[in-house]
Amino acid sequence: MKWEVVIGLETHAQLSTVSKIFSGAPTAFGAAPNTQACGVDIALPGVLPVLNTGAVERAIRFGLAVGAKINSPSIFARKNYFYPDLPKGYQISQFEKPIVEGGSVTIQVGDAEKTVRLTRAHLEEDAGKSLHEDFRGQTGIDLNRAGTPLLEIVTEPDMRSADEAVAYAKALHALVRWIDVCDGNMQEGSFRCDANVSVRPAGTQELGTRREIKNLNSFRFLQQAIEYEVRWQICEIEDGRTIQQATVLFDPETGETRMMRTKEDAHDYRYFPDPDLLPLEVTAERIAAVRDAMPVLPEVRREQFCAQFGLTPYDASLLTASRELADYFSTAAEGGDEKTGKLCANWISGALSARLNEEALDIGQSRVTARELRGLVDRIADGTISGKMARDVFDAMWAGEGDADAIIAAKGLKQISDGGEIEKIVDQVLAANARQVADFKAGKEKAFNSLVGQVMKASRGKANPQQVNDILRSKLAG
Ligand code: ADP
Ligand code: MG
Repeated sequence: MKWEVVIGLETHAQLSTVSKIFSGAPTAFGAAPNTQACGVDIALPGVLPVLNTGAVERAIRFGLAVGAKINSPSIFARKNYFYPDLPKGYQISQFEKPIVEGGSVTIQVGDAEKTVRLTRAHLEEDAGKSLHEDFRGQTGIDLNRAGTPLLEIVTEPDMRSADEAVAYAKALHALVRWIDVCDGNMQEGSFRCDANVSVRPAGTQELGTRREIKNLNSFRFLQQAIEYEVRWQICEIEDGRTIQQATVLFDPETGETRMMRTKEDAHDYRYFPDPDLLPLEVTAERIAAVRDAMPVLPEVRREQFCAQFGLTPYDASLLTASRELADYFSTAAEGGDEKTGKLCANWISGALSARLNEEALDIGQSRVTARELRGLVDRIADGTISGKMARDVFDAMWAGEGDADAIIAAKGLKQISDGGEIEKIVDQVLAANARQVADFKAGKEKAFNSLVGQVMKASRGKANPQQVNDILRSKLAG
């Protein structure tokens, strides 16, 4: 039997506000335990939550960016459960009326594009943290995270493979950073995914029973966890067992998922509207103001890049991985034609990205500025240097030896593009290699490459390779 995989993701994105969602305590990462939790966060009796407007604004910005509906009013609700890191005994979340409803995220999987529908995105507070490792036989509680603003973004069960789920998570991650609502730092827990996974016989419509893998904080773990879970579920069913709805944890050490608890249902949480918080109204003016301040979105930039410079959708998607990268490309390619644009794109996604990776720098820290890169690209485009020479020039630029023109002059790298001069070298090479000429005429295409090599060598790498090709071909044909 063939199985179809069905995945829906719930993502918690920490909103990048300075203070908590219902208090003035700071959200900065890494402080000593329990130094960043105030009376509201630790649930002292009599305190009242005050909604952070910065969190609301970010939720609206996200909603607009994914083409969703902004609900007004939206309602805060209490989700009741007991856990030591939740001193109030309930989490303030949104249940029946979330602030963001609908919308979608477009993903690129291989050559295909796919739309993942969003169900909703709601505001909520994070809980504290239980520290099991630092103590012997005891558990510590750090409430610094309590009250940290989160946007929980929920998809429809639209993904059909681990690859699609990862592509979605990456696209979402890039988007929340692009619009400055979340710093996306996965090590610090600012962006984490729960993956709901089920399988069903291929060709059927009814959803299978799902298991939810909690708190995946890297794309690699997301991929591994889903792949393991799918294999496990298929084995279970094929062995005649049924899947029980459950919440599971992924163990990166073993690469396996492990049952945490059987799944609770919404009614177990006794949701009810929080009497301490008024329904949240957002006016049309407020939404319009957020819309006006929105940066141009990645998909719009991608389309511009393709239309203006003839880039492929794939190349354009690489260049829009972040706003900084897209801006770098725009500056480099500014005022250029298609040839210039494509060269800029190739150099950014190739040599430049490789260097940045090697030295763990981001684009803002590049040792070669966008305008400097353009200086190099212009010398390739006008035939002054070959692509191969450009490699050396780029390395020298990276090492701080100056701009492209200065380096080309200093190293005497100018390419020979004078047809007459190249012809002379070609003639010499042909005269000295009668065997290869004969081989070529006998149909051995390899001999041609060897002749090109000889000419390049004789010119000490400076002859324009395209011209060498053309001149050789016409001489050999004659
Ligand atoms: P809960 O809030 O209890 O986790 P929801 O019904 O809101 O449950 O669904 C959460 C996520 O699970 C959504 O992303 C949804 O698309 C996904 N989902 C629901 N049913 C299935 C299923 N049978 N297989 C895979 N994903 C599912
Ligand atoms: Mg869930």
